Amino acid sequence: METEPKTIRGGCLCGAIRYEGIGEPYNVTHCHCEDCRKSAGAAFATWASFRRDNFQFTKGEPREIVWAGRVRSFCATCGSALTFVSQPDADEIDVTAATFDQPKIVAPADHIWTEDRISWIKLADNLPQYARGRTE
Ligand SMILES: [Zn+2]
Ligand SMILES: [Zn+2]
Repeated sequence: METEPKTIRGGCLCGAIRYEGIGEPYNVTHCHCEDCRKSAGAAFATWASFRRDNFQFTKGEPREIVWAGRVRSFCATCGSALTFVSQPDADEIDVTAATFDQPKIVAPADHIWTEDRISWIKLADNLPQYARGRTE
C-alpha cells in the first residue's frame, strides 16, 4: 500500500488565489534579503520549496513580476506575496510558508541573507545563519 502524498494547501489574504503543493516542502528558510523584505512588506520572508511539477495554482492566476531576473508572484487583488522562482524555467518553486493554511507543519531550518537583516529583528532560535545564500 502506498501512502497518499501529503497535500499542502494555501492561498492569499483575500482568497482570490489558492494553491496546492504535493509532497513534503523542503529548504524551509527565513530570508532577510532586501528583495524579499520589500516584496513581502515584512521584516523577512519564510520560504518552503516544492518541485515545480508538484505545485499548482488551483484558483485564480497570480500577477507575476520579474525582478533581478527572479520571478515573484503575488495576488493582484490583495497583494499577498506567494511564490518565487530563481529563473523562469527553474524546476523548483519557493512558496511563502506564511500563506499555507497550516503554516505550523513546516520547521524552518535556517536564516539566509542575514547581512541584510534589520537590526531590530533579534534572532534567538539557534538556527544556522548565513550572511548570504546557503551555498555561499
Ligand atoms: Zn488575494
Ligand atoms: Zn530573499
